[in-house]
Amino acid sequence: MYSISKKIFIEKQVSVDKDTFSNAEIDHLAEVKFKCCNCGHENTIKITPYESGFPIFQLYNEEKVLAKNELLRNKIVSETSKNSLYFGELTVNDLPTLYFGTDCPSCRSKYICVFSYGEKQPGLTLLTISGVWKYSEI
Ligand SMILES: [Zn+2]
Repeated sequence: MYSISKKIFIEKQVSVDKDTFSNAEIDHLAEVKFKCCNCGHENTIKITPYESGFPIFQLYNEEKVLAKNELLRNKIVSETSKNSLYFGELTVNDLPTLYFGTDCPSCRSKYICVFSYGEKQPGLTLLTISGVWKYSEI
């Protein structure tokens, strides 16, 4: 799990086995599996609330890594509703949104995972995986 600081190009989305976790399912960590679209290796990523990930803002800040319109066009994030703007301009599900990079251990293909985590409403804590995308550095 690492942060990304160079400009990247989104290649394609891969499907994950589960994309929504709530309350007790994320007491400790959430495990998400996806198959590498290059070599077929089954990757497992572990997301620990309040530990995993880096603010999504780091990607689109001055468009250093990814332009806002690329994030929107690939449906990685949405524009945040007016009353949740304190979470940032672009979010998943109007909750604090994070990302991380991960490499397939078998073939070294690069992937980016984007998710949000927080209390959606009193008594409902949600982890939403927006998706996992294969990317390459430009
Ligand atoms: Zn692979």
